Amino acid sequence: THFGFRQVERSKKASLVAGVFDSVAAKYDMMNDLMSMGVHRLWKRYTIDCSGIKPGQKVLDLAGGTGDLAAKFSRLVGPTGHVVLADINHSMLSVGRDKLRDKGVVGNVDYVQANAEALPFPDNHFDLVTMAFGLRNVTDKDKALASIFRVLKPGGRLLVLEFSKPTNDMLSKTYDWYSFNILPTMGQIVANDKESYQYLAESIRMHPDQDTLKGMFENAGFERCDYHNLTGGIVALHRGYKF
Ligand code: SAM
Repeated sequence: THFGFRQVERSKKASLVAGVFDSVAAKYDMMNDLMSMGVHRLWKRYTIDCSGIKPGQKVLDLAGGTGDLAAKFSRLVGPTGHVVLADINHSMLSVGRDKLRDKGVVGNVDYVQANAEALPFPDNHFDLVTMAFGLRNVTDKDKALASIFRVLKPGGRLLVLEFSKPTNDMLSKTYDWYSFNILPTMGQIVANDKESYQYLAESIRMHPDQDTLKGMFENAGFERCDYHNLTGGIVALHRGYKF
């Protein structure tokens, strides 16, 4: 199936986010490794391990960016399955598409420019939707959750991997210092782009904590919602089912 590229509406936050990801796209993967000291790979691996994905299934990797999750899902669903890598940002999507093609990930992956708030897919279509480090960038998160709910099949699940609230005071303070001082400085030195990494720290601070996000899942209609803290709650993996 080919859904084609779609134009998107942009609010103020949306254009800020667009600027950030246009700016970081080319160096995104390298910066991810540097800033998380490689740990984002473990968070993503845990997400894959929790996905319960099977050959032949349909997966939407939403806000999929440079495609780390989509590449793994492509292998796991096999030739009878289908993966859609969707992202609102054309620059991130093209870096992702080039990377996956270079890795030989072809045949069962489609690339779609789409806003999580208004997904251009049929109802009851996907077995699994994943969103890694994407939800905090979305302007209307409730709208995005409702849109994801709509495109999931009954029995399907949503996994959201996102920065969250550290559970321990010491860790929280150290992490705050790291995010507001070290990250923007590294952004300045390595990518000559302090603002984007300042946005990163601010967006993490603003994002709903574990229990608030779980409540938002429930409001959108998801059931059996739970979450698992990773790295002391710096990141959490939220899960919910559509029945
Ligand atoms: N999932 C990838 C990963 O884990 O490496 C990329 C995460 S990156 C931090 C966040 C992505 O969210 C960006 O590629 C950005 O363009 C995308 N994004 C932001 N707002 C979005 C929206 N409303 N709909 C879809 N994607 C969005």
